[in-house]
Amino acid sequence: MSVLPLIYAPHPVLDRPTTRISKVDSKIQKLIDDMIETMHANLGVGLAANQVGIPLRIAVIQGPDDIKPLILINPEIVKREGRRELTEGCLSIPGYQGEVGRSVTVKVKAMNINGRFFRIKAEGNLLAQVLEHETDHLDGKLYVERLLGKDRIYKIERDLTNEVEGSDHAAPSTETR
Ligand SMILES: [Zn+2]
Repeated sequence: MSVLPLIYAPHPVLDRPTTRISKVDSKIQKLIDDMIETMHANLGVGLAANQVGIPLRIAVIQGPDDIKPLILINPEIVKREGRRELTEGCLSIPGYQGEVGRSVTVKVKAMNINGRFFRIKAEGNLLAQVLEHETDHLDGKLYVERLLGKDRIYKIERDLTNEVEGSDHAAPSTETR
Protein backbone atom coordinates (compact mmCIF):
# COMPACT_ATOMS: atom_id res chain seq x y z
CA MET A 1 0.00 0.00 0.00
CA SER A 2 1.11 3.53 -0.55
CA VAL A 3 0.11 7.03 0.44
CA LEU A 4 -0.99 8.90 -2.67
CA PRO A 5 -0.45 12.63 -3.22
CA LEU A 6 -3.55 14.74 -2.60
CA ILE A 7 -5.04 17.01 -5.25
CA TYR A 8 -5.82 20.53 -4.11
CA ALA A 9 -8.48 22.95 -5.34
CA PRO A 10 -8.69 24.50 -7.80
CA HIS A 11 -8.13 21.48 -10.05
CA PRO A 12 -10.38 20.19 -12.87
CA VAL A 13 -10.41 16.62 -11.52
CA LEU A 14 -12.20 17.93 -8.42
CA ASP A 15 -14.83 19.75 -10.50
CA ARG A 16 -15.92 16.91 -12.79
CA PRO A 17 -18.31 14.06 -12.01
CA THR A 18 -16.46 10.76 -11.63
CA THR A 19 -17.04 7.59 -13.66
CA ARG A 20 -18.90 4.56 -12.32
CA ILE A 21 -17.04 1.27 -12.02
CA SER A 22 -18.37 -1.86 -13.68
CA LYS A 23 -16.05 -4.38 -12.08
CA VAL A 24 -13.87 -4.48 -8.98
CA ASP A 25 -10.58 -5.88 -10.25
CA SER A 26 -7.15 -6.02 -8.63
CA LYS A 27 -6.31 -2.49 -9.81
CA ILE A 28 -9.42 -1.10 -8.14
CA GLN A 29 -8.66 -3.14 -5.01
CA LYS A 30 -5.17 -1.62 -4.87
CA LEU A 31 -6.54 1.88 -5.41
CA ILE A 32 -8.96 1.37 -2.51
CA ASP A 33 -6.15 0.11 -0.25
CA ASP A 34 -4.04 3.15 -1.19
CA MET A 35 -6.98 5.50 -0.60
CA ILE A 36 -7.49 4.06 2.89
CA GLU A 37 -3.80 4.49 3.67
CA THR A 38 -3.86 8.04 2.28
CA MET A 39 -6.93 8.91 4.40
CA HIS A 40 -5.23 7.55 7.53
CA ALA A 41 -1.92 9.31 6.78
CA ASN A 42 -3.76 12.63 6.50
CA LEU A 43 -5.98 11.94 9.54
CA GLY A 44 -9.03 12.41 7.34
CA VAL A 45 -12.41 10.81 8.00
CA GLY A 46 -13.19 10.39 4.31
CA LEU A 47 -11.57 10.45 0.89
CA ALA A 48 -12.92 10.40 -2.65
CA ALA A 49 -10.88 8.93 -5.53
CA ASN A 50 -10.75 12.22 -7.43
CA GLN A 51 -8.97 13.75 -4.42
CA VAL A 52 -6.01 11.57 -5.38
CA GLY A 53 -6.49 12.38 -9.08
CA ILE A 54 -8.41 9.24 -10.09
CA PRO A 55 -11.78 10.14 -11.65
CA LEU A 56 -13.61 6.99 -10.51
CA ARG A 57 -16.71 6.78 -8.32
CA ILE A 58 -15.13 5.40 -5.15
CA ALA A 59 -15.00 6.81 -1.64
CA VAL A 60 -13.69 5.57 1.70
CA ILE A 61 -14.91 6.75 5.09
CA GLN A 62 -13.64 6.07 8.58
CA GLY A 63 -14.67 8.16 11.57
CA PRO A 64 -12.56 8.35 14.73
CA ASP A 65 -14.71 5.68 16.41
CA ASP A 66 -15.00 3.33 13.44
CA ILE A 67 -13.09 0.06 13.70
CA LYS A 68 -12.78 -0.39 9.96
CA PRO A 69 -13.19 1.78 6.88
CA LEU A 70 -16.44 1.94 4.95
CA ILE A 71 -15.79 1.36 1.25
CA LEU A 72 -18.31 2.86 -1.17
CA ILE A 73 -18.20 1.93 -4.84
CA ASN A 74 -20.60 3.80 -7.13
CA PRO A 75 -22.36 5.42 -4.14
CA GLU A 76 -25.59 7.32 -4.77
CA ILE A 77 -27.65 9.22 -2.26
CA VAL A 78 -31.16 7.79 -2.54
CA LYS A 79 -32.78 9.91 0.17
CA ARG A 80 -32.05 13.08 2.14
CA GLU A 81 -34.18 14.54 4.88
CA GLY A 82 -34.01 17.57 7.12
CA ARG A 83 -31.46 20.33 7.21
CA ARG A 84 -28.71 21.31 9.62
CA GLU A 85 -25.79 23.70 9.71
CA LEU A 86 -22.28 22.38 10.25
CA THR A 87 -18.66 23.41 10.12
CA GLU A 88 -16.68 21.54 7.53
CA GLY A 89 -13.20 21.23 6.11
CA CYS A 90 -11.67 19.34 3.23
CA LEU A 91 -8.26 17.77 2.62
CA SER A 92 -8.37 19.36 -0.85
CA ILE A 93 -8.83 22.88 0.59
CA PRO A 94 -6.11 23.11 3.23
CA GLY A 95 -6.18 25.92 5.76
CA TYR A 96 -9.91 26.70 5.56
CA GLN A 97 -13.18 25.79 7.21
CA GLY A 98 -16.65 26.73 6.12
CA GLU A 99 -20.17 26.74 7.50
CA VAL A 100 -22.38 24.60 5.33
CA GLY A 101 -25.93 23.33 5.06
CA ARG A 102 -26.28 19.54 5.18
CA SER A 103 -29.08 17.02 5.56
CA VAL A 104 -30.02 15.38 8.86
CA THR A 105 -30.78 11.96 7.39
CA VAL A 106 -28.89 10.50 4.47
CA LYS A 107 -29.49 7.15 2.78
CA VAL A 108 -26.88 5.86 0.36
CA LYS A 109 -26.89 2.92 -2.00
CA ALA A 110 -23.47 1.58 -3.00
CA MET A 111 -21.55 -1.50 -4.02
CA ASN A 112 -19.04 -3.22 -1.76
CA ILE A 113 -15.67 -4.70 -2.66
CA ASN A 114 -17.35 -8.01 -3.59
CA GLY A 115 -19.63 -6.31 -6.07
CA ARG A 116 -22.72 -6.59 -3.86
CA PHE A 117 -25.12 -3.72 -3.40
CA PHE A 118 -25.89 -2.45 0.08
CA ARG A 119 -27.66 0.48 1.67
CA ILE A 120 -26.54 2.57 4.57
CA LYS A 121 -28.54 5.09 6.57
CA ALA A 122 -27.06 7.76 8.81
CA GLU A 123 -28.94 10.26 10.89
CA GLY A 124 -27.72 13.47 12.53
CA ASN A 125 -24.15 12.26 12.94
CA LEU A 126 -20.69 12.59 11.46
CA LEU A 127 -21.32 9.73 9.04
CA ALA A 128 -24.33 11.53 7.53
CA GLN A 129 -22.16 14.60 6.97
CA VAL A 130 -19.26 12.66 5.47
CA LEU A 131 -21.55 10.62 3.19
CA GLU A 132 -22.81 13.88 1.69
CA HIS A 133 -19.33 15.42 1.54
CA GLU A 134 -17.81 12.43 -0.27
CA THR A 135 -20.69 11.86 -2.72
CA ASP A 136 -20.47 15.58 -3.48
CA HIS A 137 -16.78 15.08 -4.34
CA LEU A 138 -17.73 12.23 -6.68
CA ASP A 139 -20.30 14.52 -8.33
CA GLY A 140 -17.56 17.14 -8.86
CA LYS A 141 -18.71 19.40 -6.02
CA LEU A 142 -16.73 20.88 -3.16
CA TYR A 143 -18.19 22.02 0.16
CA VAL A 144 -17.70 25.65 -0.86
CA GLU A 145 -20.82 25.14 -3.02
CA ARG A 146 -22.77 24.35 0.16
CA LEU A 147 -21.71 27.43 2.15
CA LEU A 148 -24.47 29.18 4.10
CA GLY A 149 -23.21 32.42 2.53
CA LYS A 150 -20.24 33.21 0.36
CA ASP A 151 -18.43 34.87 3.29
CA ARG A 152 -18.98 31.87 5.59
CA ILE A 153 -15.54 30.43 4.96
CA TYR A 154 -12.61 31.10 7.26
CA LYS A 155 -8.89 30.74 7.24
CA ILE A 156 -7.86 28.65 10.19
CA GLU A 157 -4.88 29.77 12.23
CA ARG A 158 -3.46 26.40 13.09
CA ASP A 159 -3.73 24.14 10.09
CA LEU A 160 -6.35 21.66 11.22
CA THR A 161 -7.16 20.61 7.69
CA ASN A 162 -5.71 17.17 8.14
CA GLU A 163 -8.10 16.60 10.99
CA VAL A 164 -11.30 17.92 9.50
CA GLU A 165 -11.94 16.35 6.13
CA GLY A 166 -15.69 16.35 6.01
CA SER A 167 -15.96 17.04 9.66
CA ASP A 168 -16.12 19.57 12.43
CA HIS A 169 -14.68 17.10 14.87
CA ALA A 170 -11.95 14.56 14.62
CA ALA A 171 -10.74 14.37 18.20
CA PRO A 172 -7.20 15.49 17.34
CA SER A 173 -6.12 15.49 20.97
CA THR A 174 -6.73 11.78 21.28
CA GLU A 175 -5.41 10.93 17.85
CA THR A 176 -2.22 8.93 18.15
CA ARG A 177 -1.35 8.38 14.51
ZN1 LIG B 1 -13.28 16.87 0.91
